[in-house]
Amino acid sequence: MSDRFIPQNLEEIRNQIIETCKKCGRDPEEVSLIAVSKTKPNEDIIEAYSHQQMHFGENRMQELQDKMDAIDLPGIQWHMIGTMQSNKIKYIAHRVDWIHSVSKAKYLNEIEKRAAEYDRTINVLIQVNISDEDQKSGCDVSDLAGILEHAKHLSHIRIRGLMGMARFVDDAEDVRSEFRLLKETLDSHQQYNGGNIELTELSMGMSGDFEVAIEEGATMVRVGSSIFGSRNYA
Ligand SMILES: *Cc1c(COP(=O)(O)O)cnc(C)c1O
Repeated sequence: MSDRFIPQNLEEIRNQIIETCKKCGRDPEEVSLIAVSKTKPNEDIIEAYSHQQMHFGENRMQELQDKMDAIDLPGIQWHMIGTMQSNKIKYIAHRVDWIHSVSKAKYLNEIEKRAAEYDRTINVLIQVNISDEDQKSGCDVSDLAGILEHAKHLSHIRIRGLMGMARFVDDAEDVRSEFRLLKETLDSHQQYNGGNIELTELSMGMSGDFEVAIEEGATMVRVGSSIFGSRNYA
C-alpha cells in the first residue's frame, strides 16, 4: 500500500529538511537523509533509489546483509544503525559503508579485524546515550574519550562523528535538550580529531523529531516510517 507514496513522501521530507535549514540558517547540503528501510521489501528500496535516494539504514545485521547482497546499485550507501552483535559484524563488513551504533571498544576491534580482511575502511559513528534511559543503548558521555583513544590505533576505521537516539515523546520539543547534549558532546571532543578521527557528523532525529534535531545541528537524519509507511514491528 505504501509503495505508491514513497516518491511523494521523499519529496515532502526533503522539503521539510530544506525549510527547517532555512529557518535556522543552515545549508541543506549539510544534512543527509538516511532512509530507514528496516522490515520493508527490496522493491521499496529500489523505488526510493530510483527517486535519487542514495542512503539506506537498517537496524538488524542479518537483514542488512540480505539487502546489501540482493540490491547492487551504483552509488548506494548502506548504514547499519541498530544494536551491534560482535559475531555478526563479519556478515556486513564486505559492503557496509557506515556503522552508526558503536558503543564499545570491543565492537571497534571486531570491525577493524573484518574490514581488514576485505581491505576496506568503514565509517563509524559512536553512539552516545543521550536519553538516560537504560533500554536505549550507547556509551556514557564519560566513556567517549576512552573509545576515541582506542580508535586512534585502528587503520580500517574512520571515526566520523556521533549518533544518538532521543526518548519517544509526543512533542519533539521535549527532546531538544537531548539533541543539544549530543552536539555539545561532539564539540567538547574536537581535540581528538586527527589521523582517522574526524568528529563532524551528528546522526540524530527520526520521523517524529528530525526537524528539532536539524535545528540542534544534525547532519544525518534517520527517517523510516514517514517515507516507507508504518511498520508491524521494530
Ligand atoms: C527505526 C529507526 C529509525 C527510524 O524510525 P522512524 O520513526 O520510523 O523514522 C531511526 N533510527 C533507528 C536507530 C531506528 O532503529
